[in-house]
Amino acid sequence: MNDKPVVKQAVCPQCRRPFTYDPADVPKWSPFCCERCQWIDLGRWLNGEYRITRDLPADDLEQKD
Ligand SMILES: [Zn+2]
Repeated sequence: MNDKPVVKQAVCPQCRRPFTYDPADVPKWSPFCCERCQWIDLGRWLNGEYRITRDLPADDLEQKD
């Protein structure tokens, strides 16, 4: 039998820190290493640091900056 715990490795997209998680019990803050990093990322979205423009055709956008 293989009693070694199965863990997956990932890199947190927020703090860039490698971490491991149990794929059978994925943390609710996945894909981040911790809840804190998830909230930091969410905060960036809310603060408008990320812009959702990828799916919009550039021709339809008026540049108002
Ligand atoms: Zn992190």
